[in-house]
Amino acid sequence: MEKLLLFTPGPVNVAKNVKEAICKEDICHREAEFDALLQSVENKLLQLFEIKTISDYRAVVITGSGTAANESMMSSIIGDQNILILSNGEFGERLHKISKIHNKNTFLLDFAWGEKLDLEKVEAYLQEHDIDIVAMVHHETSSGMLNPLEKIGALSKENGAMLIVDCVSSTGAEVINMEKCHISFCSSSSSKAVCSYSGLSFVVGRIDEFEKLKDMPVKSTYLNLYNFYNFIKTYSQTPNTPAVPLFFALEQTLINILDKGIYNYHAGLRDRASILRQGMLKLGLEFLIDEKDMCCVLTTVKIPFHIDVTAFRQKLRKKSIIIYEGKGCFKDKVFQVGNIGELSFDDIQFFLKSLKEILRSFGPVNIKNVTSINFPRSILTSVNENVERKNFASQYKT
Ligand SMILES: *Cc1c(COP(=O)(O)O)cnc(C)c1O
Repeated sequence: MEKLLLFTPGPVNVAKNVKEAICKEDICHREAEFDALLQSVENKLLQLFEIKTISDYRAVVITGSGTAANESMMSSIIGDQNILILSNGEFGERLHKISKIHNKNTFLLDFAWGEKLDLEKVEAYLQEHDIDIVAMVHHETSSGMLNPLEKIGALSKENGAMLIVDCVSSTGAEVINMEKCHISFCSSSSSKAVCSYSGLSFVVGRIDEFEKLKDMPVKSTYLNLYNFYNFIKTYSQTPNTPAVPLFFALEQTLINILDKGIYNYHAGLRDRASILRQGMLKLGLEFLIDEKDMCCVLTTVKIPFHIDVTAFRQKLRKKSIIIYEGKGCFKDKVFQVGNIGELSFDDIQFFLKSLKEILRSFGPVNIKNVTSINFPRSILTSVNENVERKNFASQYKT
């Protein structure tokens, strides 16, 4: 099979040594070999998060994609306390959806997809309501927006709320300072900027907060976060059968990142994003959001109105290039180009050259003359209006 170039925000093209790691020796997950492997992975995850007081934190690893880590947080941390979800896109809405299943006191403060979180509104909400836990997405992958952890962390702390964060698509790409941002727990996965295979996710959290989960009502068996914590603490194992080969791959990718140095790794991603963005702007394309608000994982590009998305993607596919389509209210309006994984600068140049050819094949060469689709607020808010609101959250809105 031809090699596909995955210009997606995960899955990614994994490194050769990660591919090799997945076929290491057969071990039993109830023996010392796995205990050591899990310890090694946990240790490296805590290093990846650059945690200074490492004795205050632990990381548990769950067999399951990023959603498993999110659902383990949502089902294990909240109990019957009041949780406020901040949302400005698809993944914020998903957090809300998961929370509603497990927690009757779930409230939502939502903003239009692709819009920034309004800090004044967040502050006012927290001052006026009795919120115990705030949950948010760091990198809202649907738009590419990086949300402000430090500011929300400070607001949460001032108002006596704990902060939990979905860092699935930002881990490995952006600084996540759990200590400085007052984050109690955050979730992530193996297959995005961490650049391994999909199938493992993890939750990093403060030990004192993990300990408190012991007294929380159990709402899930498999995804019980306290159980994961208790098992790793007591046995250096996982409660159920883990996907052992994926742990070998995760360990290897973490070694790759730490060997390179976290700062250099982030800088490498920023360089690639920057080359892609400059190249696409030169072709006359426009982005959905301001470059300064973007994460360095992907770029969300408006589709010029004369271009049919399906045909466009097929033409790229013929060149072995895979990109992402927009979802929800962005469907048929944007495409997304990731820059994580094993993509070389030659691959990026090849992508830009192919993109130029393909854009030309759709008509006017100077596509700057063609108006791109704008996103009137009304379109965006109308989608969000459909999101179910609850109790005082809806009263607040009116
Ligand atoms: C990818 C992603 C997830 C998890 O999705 P999975 O399909 O379970 O891997 C959660 N949150 C964000 C922000 C993501 O980008």
